[in-house]
Amino acid sequence: RRARGALHAVRALASAPRASAVPRARTGAPLGTAVDQARLGAALARLASAPVERLLNRPEAPAAQALAERGIPPRTIEGFLRPLLAALLYDPELTTSSRCADLALHAFAGGRLCLPEGGADALPELLARSLPPGTVHTGVRVTSIATTAVTTAEHGEIRCRAVLLATDARTAGELLPGLRVPGFHPVTVLHHTMDEAPDTGASLLLDADRSGPVAHTAVISLVDPSRAPAGRALVTSTVLGTPPPDVDTAVRMHLARLYGTSTARWETLAVHHTPEAVPAMTAPHDLRRPVRLLAGLYVCGDHRDTSTVQGALHSARRATTAILTDLGAAGSLNRSEPLRTAA
Ligand SMILES: Cc1cc2nc3c(=O)[nH]c(=O)nc-3n(C[C@H](O)[C@H](O)[C@H](O)COP(=O)(O)OP(=O)(O)OC[C@H]3O[C@@H](n4cnc5c(N)ncnc54)[C@H](O)[C@@H]3O)c2cc1C
Repeated sequence: RRARGALHAVRALASAPRASAVPRARTGAPLGTAVDQARLGAALARLASAPVERLLNRPEAPAAQALAERGIPPRTIEGFLRPLLAALLYDPELTTSSRCADLALHAFAGGRLCLPEGGADALPELLARSLPPGTVHTGVRVTSIATTAVTTAEHGEIRCRAVLLATDARTAGELLPGLRVPGFHPVTVLHHTMDEAPDTGASLLLDADRSGPVAHTAVISLVDPSRAPAGRALVTSTVLGTPPPDVDTAVRMHLARLYGTSTARWETLAVHHTPEAVPAMTAPHDLRRPVRLLAGLYVCGDHRDTSTVQGALHSARRATTAILTDLGAAGSLNRSEPLRTAA
C-alpha cells in the first residue's frame, strides 16, 4: 500500500491540502471505507483549528499508544496516520510524546509545512544575509565557552558580554557538561536522479506496509526544480532507523515497487547517513527547556523545544529575549554591537 499525503511546498502551493481534504491512496484502499476517510478528514480539520494550548493540555503518552486509544479505525492508523507521523517525527516506532505528535499533525493539517527553495541551507543563509556584513563567521570551531569568552580552534579566544550556544545537542553537552543530552533518531537520506520523473506528481509517498527500508519518498524536483541537476528529475527518499547494509540497492528495489517503474537506470547522487539526526522527544517531553543557564550564558536549539527547525527558531527567540533583557536592551537590538553566537 502506498498512502499519498500531499507534500506542502513553497514552490508547490497548489498541491497543499486543505485541512478538510481527505488524503488519497494510490492503490487499494489503505485508508478504509468512505466513512473512515470522512472521519479522518473531519479529525484533521478539528486538529488544524484546535488552539495549540488545548493540544498541549491533552494527556501525554507515547504517540503509538495515544493513537490506539482515540477510537480511530486501525486501518486508518496503519494505512495513513502511523506512516505520516513516522515521517513527520522521524520516529518509526512512534515513541514520541503524543503532544509533539499532535503539534506535528496540527501543522500538517493546517497546510503550513514547506520545503525551503534551494535546500535546507537556504533558511540560515537568508537569515545571515539580513545582518550587517561581518556579523556571522562560519567555519570556526568553538572548543570552550564561558560567560565572557569563547575559545575557538582557529582564532583563539574571543571576549564577549554574553554567549548563546546554538549547536546540536551532543556538542552542547560537551561544551556545557551537565546539560542533558537526549537520545536520537538516525536518518538516512538518498538522492537519485533520472531523465524523466516517475508519474506521481508532487506528492509524498508514504510506505504504509513497511515493505522495504524507505519510509517516505517524493519527486522533489517537481516541488523545487532548483535542487535537481539541469534537465534531470530528482527523487529524494528517507530511511528511518538503522539502515540495511547495502542501503542503496535495497532502496532502489523498494522505490521500483513504490513508483511502479524500473530504477535500474537511476543514478545515485548522494547517500547521507546521520546517526544523531533528530533528538528523540519521548514522553514526558518538556517543550520549553530553560535557555537561560545564568546571566551571560544561554543555550538554544531543537533540543530545547521540539526537534524541528521551528522548535530551534522558537528556542532561539526565547534565548535572545532573555539576553536582551539581561543586557538591559529588551525591545531594541544594538546592531553595531552584535552578540557572539557559537553556531
Ligand atoms: C536528514 C534530516 C532531515 C530533517 N528534516 C527536517 C524537516 O523536514 N523539517 C524540520 O523541521 N526539521 C527537519 N530536521 C531537523 C532539523 O534539521 C533540526 O531540528 C534543526 O536543524 C535544528 O537546528 P539547530 O539550530 O538546533 O541545530 P543544527 O541545525 O544542528 O545547527 C547546529 C550548528 O552548530 C554548529 N556546530 C556544532 N558544533 C560546533 C562547534 N564546536 N563550534 C561551532 N559550531 C558548531 C554546526 O556546524 C551547526 O551549524 C531534519 C534533520 C535531518 C538530519
